[in-house]
Amino acid sequence: MSLIESGLFKPQLLIDGVWSAAEDGKIFSVENPATGEVIAQVADATPADAKRAIAAAARAQIAWAETSVLERSRLLRKWFDLVMHNQEELAKILTIEQGKPLAEARGEIAYGASYIEWFAEEAKRIYGDVIAPSENNTRILVIKQPVGVVATITPWNFPNAMLARKLAPALAAGCAVVAKPAAETPLSALALGQLAVDAGIPAGLINILPSSCAKEIGEAFTSNEQVRKISFTGSTAVGKQLITQCAADVKRISLELGGNAPFIVFEDADLDAAVAGAIASKFRNAGQTCVCANRFYVQQTIYDTFCEKLASAMKGFVIGNGLDKEINMGPLISNRAQQKAQALLDDAVSRGAKIAYQAKQDDSWQTGYFFPPTLLVNVPVDARLTCEEIFGPIAPIISFETEAQVIQFANSSEYGLAAYLYTRDANRIKRLSDQLQTGMLGVNTGLISNAMAPFGGVKQSGWGREGSRYGMDDYLNIKYLRESFS
Ligand code: NAP
Repeated sequence: MSLIESGLFKPQLLIDGVWSAAEDGKIFSVENPATGEVIAQVADATPADAKRAIAAAARAQIAWAETSVLERSRLLRKWFDLVMHNQEELAKILTIEQGKPLAEARGEIAYGASYIEWFAEEAKRIYGDVIAPSENNTRILVIKQPVGVVATITPWNFPNAMLARKLAPALAAGCAVVAKPAAETPLSALALGQLAVDAGIPAGLINILPSSCAKEIGEAFTSNEQVRKISFTGSTAVGKQLITQCAADVKRISLELGGNAPFIVFEDADLDAAVAGAIASKFRNAGQTCVCANRFYVQQTIYDTFCEKLASAMKGFVIGNGLDKEINMGPLISNRAQQKAQALLDDAVSRGAKIAYQAKQDDSWQTGYFFPPTLLVNVPVDARLTCEEIFGPIAPIISFETEAQVIQFANSSEYGLAAYLYTRDANRIKRLSDQLQTGMLGVNTGLISNAMAPFGGVKQSGWGREGSRYGMDDYLNIKYLRESFS
């Protein structure tokens, strides 16, 4: 498919239901990370465009909050149906701009859509409360109301799902949204916007502002009093800046930030299952997920066996352009990402780690930002890649001896997004579930994301939850009514 031929190729701004150029007519380039080719010139939103979009969202939100939950649910469901109907085209757009293999891209579209489907249902379940009063002749009621206009900022690693995960609960709750997708991957967000228009979602409720000026657009969002909430997914560093910016008018903010997931394998684990879980958790999206296993802790007695089995499984990766059928690992997003992964690898090796397996570089990789899947053994606990997000296909394996020691290793991070645990011991599962400092724990599984479950972190991995019945709370204000009767 030529991208231009796709009806979902919309390299413009979506404001108030209308596609338009940026106010100053500027554009920016989007490239395919597998080939380095420029695939689109996209309208480059300015702060003035953001202001216009916020005003449109504020107008639309008033009527939307009055719309019955059944109508909101019906429109979200229609949007879900359209997304799934266009899954293949959306997946191709996603692969071309982000690089992940087509099968993974299809999976991301279905995953993003599952949030739209879920919140189409949850729209009908915005429950309040009736509380026992302290005095007779009074009644305490609790009602929930939409927070108003929400501004979202999303990253490039899941350009469809990270946005769908915010748009769906926001709309279900009665909010309107202004969205800034990542500059590397705006096309998936814009395609979602077109399908929202096609589904009949009223103009102004979803506004999409691709931009190469993230800081300026972020400031236009946080400094605007009509925006009552920021929902951000991205790095902890940018999340912290946004918290400071939101302090000015005490704006609500939800944050889905970075992770540094420990993947713990005890000697009593099913090792084949642990290896399968490691492959799924570590290498999805070439290691560029926030819940990626970042550091493997393997009990000393099974260390060598686990490493051999993992090295053997890693030989199954076929790396290249994600549009090619046989490919199951794509490139990294950019040259900067390649350099960061290489620097972390070099640091570990300089501290004594050994490369136990590394895929052979291929000439066809020259055009893109590929990185060979790499297994590192004898990794010291203080190597940089045990403290920082790798965001690349490097698996560092660290040995441990006791349960107490591995809990201490796992909790020694400032992050607390996801963790993985492989053991057959039920008592150990209980102890580690209690003690690991994490928002999410996969027990004998490497896959944890699910629209029905609360996704989010503790410590510097964020505030709030996305998905599940808890996900709605991020877009609702609580109001309490005390009624007095004579
Ligand atoms: P990033 O640099 O923080 O960028 C994320 C988004 O913020 C992009 O849209 C970016 O725009 C924008 N941005 C950058 N600087 C900004 C500023 N000063 N003000 C306002 N917006 C700004 O993160 P990334 O490298 O794209 O994404 C990877 C990070 O996201 C990792 O840390 C990963 O763990 C995290 N993540 C977390 C979750 C989760 O659910 N917890 C999910 C996915 C990813 P530009 O692209 O235009 O620069």
